[in-house]
Amino acid sequence: MTTLNKKPTTKQLTQSFGTVTLVGAGPGDPELLTIKAMKAISQADCVLYDALISPEILELIPQQCTRIHVGKRCGDHKMGQADIQTLLVSCARKYQRVVRLKGGDPFIFGRGGEELQYLQQRGIDVLVVPGITAAGGCAAAAKIPLTHRHLGNALVLQSGHSQHGEFDLPQNPTRVFYMGAKQAGAITARLLTEGLHESTPIAIIANGTLPNQQVIKGVLMDLPHLAGQYSGAGPALIVVGEVAAMAELSTQKSSQRQVA
Ligand code: SAH
Repeated sequence: MTTLNKKPTTKQLTQSFGTVTLVGAGPGDPELLTIKAMKAISQADCVLYDALISPEILELIPQQCTRIHVGKRCGDHKMGQADIQTLLVSCARKYQRVVRLKGGDPFIFGRGGEELQYLQQRGIDVLVVPGITAAGGCAAAAKIPLTHRHLGNALVLQSGHSQHGEFDLPQNPTRVFYMGAKQAGAITARLLTEGLHESTPIAIIANGTLPNQQVIKGVLMDLPHLAGQYSGAGPALIVVGEVAAMAELSTQKSSQRQVA
């Protein structure tokens, strides 16, 4: 029997890509990997990893798994971001489970957002496994509380990298308010006074990562009203800034609640 002229079915066409998981590897200590990160690494068919991934973590990659070093180092770029993204797509075409292993957290100065968008635009399923970002890991190692009553009520994570050798103050910072749901009115009023536009995107994430996760999206002007939609049961974060518009209402677990 010949299959040469057999056209692929719709199902085969839609399944022509594997899943890519953006995995945060934490600051270096392999014991700071999450259980989810360990699982993703141990089940991977192909791992693309950065320069900062420690040798102990690389040892956790299964023997039969294809491993590709795509690390870039300042001044000695091994592979450009565009090349990495193209390579991710070809790996997703070839392998069922592709892991993109990044130092710290993929969404904190890790260009994980760009890779997520690039892959999703090409119809590739992407999962994200957060990691302990360098700020959290290093602060714990040095016993510095990043917030402390009376000493520090906000935390600024800022890039010290600049394209032109000039140091930029944050132009469009992302603000994440902890313990802010009940203060949404006051927060909104204050941010508008500070000059934020009323159409600045916001997202409220309640019970994040849990089966009853709730994501509400909108704009700053509507924040007090939207915060009222959140039941108040369980913890919530308010994200304010352009990136909040990228929030996905569909969640990783089918049981997770979606609120538009
Ligand atoms: N996505 C990463 C950050 C990547 S940018 C994260 O969430 O941590 C790379 C920078 O992170 C390094 O130049 C350094 O400033 C910092 N960094 C990463 N790992 C570190 C470590 N183990 N100790 C100190 N700084 C670290």
